[in-house]
Amino acid sequence: MPGFDAALLGTSFNAVDPGRRPDLIVQANTTEDVIAAVKRAREQGLSIGICSGGHSWAQNHIRDGGIMLDLSRLNSITINENVGTAIIGPGCLAGELNAALAKRSLFFPVAHAYTVGMGGFLLQGGFGWNSRTVGLACQSVIGIDVVLADGTLVHASEQKNPELLWAARGAGPGFFGVVVRFHLSLHERPKFVGLKLQVFRIHHLEEVMAWADHVGPDVPASVEFQLVFNRRAAGIFSHGIEVLAPVLANSWREAREAVGFIDRSPVRSKASLSLPLLPMSLSTMMKTGERTLFLPNTRWTADSMWMDGSIEPLLPALRQIADTQPPAPSHALWLNWNPPPSRPDMAFSLEGRTYLALYGGLRSKAATTPTDETWATDHMRALQQHSLGIQLADENLGRRPMPFMAPANLARLDALRAQYDPQGLFHPYMGRLS
Ligand SMILES: Cc1cc2nc3c(=O)[nH]c(=O)nc-3n(C[C@H](O)[C@H](O)[C@H](O)COP(=O)(O)OP(=O)(O)OC[C@H]3O[C@@H](n4cnc5c(N)ncnc54)[C@H](O)[C@@H]3O)c2cc1C
Repeated sequence: MPGFDAALLGTSFNAVDPGRRPDLIVQANTTEDVIAAVKRAREQGLSIGICSGGHSWAQNHIRDGGIMLDLSRLNSITINENVGTAIIGPGCLAGELNAALAKRSLFFPVAHAYTVGMGGFLLQGGFGWNSRTVGLACQSVIGIDVVLADGTLVHASEQKNPELLWAARGAGPGFFGVVVRFHLSLHERPKFVGLKLQVFRIHHLEEVMAWADHVGPDVPASVEFQLVFNRRAAGIFSHGIEVLAPVLANSWREAREAVGFIDRSPVRSKASLSLPLLPMSLSTMMKTGERTLFLPNTRWTADSMWMDGSIEPLLPALRQIADTQPPAPSHALWLNWNPPPSRPDMAFSLEGRTYLALYGGLRSKAATTPTDETWATDHMRALQQHSLGIQLADENLGRRPMPFMAPANLARLDALRAQYDPQGLFHPYMGRLS
């Protein structure tokens, strides 16, 4: 049915048609609509897939059979400046929330791209802007309003139904209820936001990677230090490595000192392009990133891995990744993460010192080869022995199941799911290691 297919596929950022089809789509306008959909699913024995912003690379919400519940219209934002909190609907976009907060000099670690939905982003953990300083976005979720499998609407916080909040902080596409509102704790807005950029030709890959891996642990938390392999790298418009260092600090001076390590690096003289620290609004950075790296109307395959070990043994594999990289907007991201020694107890429980993600983004069927289609998955599989697990932000569980949570946390999540959704109304993860 063309109208049905257009409505369904139109919910997905990824332009792949996965071939899966639910029986019906429910577009909720209110919480009551959500409750009615859950009750109907229960009565008719239908399963439920949930979509907020539709940015799941794996298109987790599009499943065979049952209801596809579209929450994109639940996108309200209510900010309480006096107490520094906000209540948002799951369909609210990262860029919309950021813009509303910027007007009030408030801040939330929203996703890096403007159009990411807050619903899925918050549930999977949320690697947001300034998350190395203020924590994962889910750590700033102080409450949720959730419709459970029995059709009841409950509030969960640290005080009330704390186990539901525990699960909502990291279960991602395996959460067993419909979150209709998130209650957020807000932060003070960093006074300076800027970007430091250096670009190297791809033949410098080994030395640039080795340098980045070496200095990573000493890079201030205010800097989101990352390397991107791009066949249309900024400034050189050919295959290169972009050294990107967005910085969120409290002054220009502090930011300049924080990114100073890039200008002092032993590889700096080999850079083809080196820009000074450029002041830039977060909103501009979000939109630019989306326009350059994450183009819409693209067929995406993403996959990821956390690592603790040194990059040295991986350099030959990284060279192969670069050599076989499909055309832009496909890209590889290496991120300096270095998490704090501990976090609050929550479902989210797997991360590493550094992160590698491959985003295969294909725009034209004619110009692609079969290996382009499987580039991300094949290379991540080849590096599996070096991986601690994956991040649910960039999951590919249907094609390559990998650990995404500490075993004890996953067992606790399974027990909660069995308690709150005994009939399995909500779809489980698309794949799991047994
Ligand atoms: C261009 C782009 C940039 C990204 N940047 C970042 C980033 O900077 N940091 C980061 O951490 N991640 C990032 N991601 C990953 C993104 O956060 C996840 O894909 C997230 O799931 C997207 O949320 P969504 O609501 O848009 O997605 P959806 O596809 O709508 O949601 C994903 C899954 O979450 C569950 N879900 C969603 N909403 C609800 C709800 N209200 N109640 C219950 N379950 C729900 C469903 O199982 C759903 O299938 C990015 C993704 C893209 C495509």
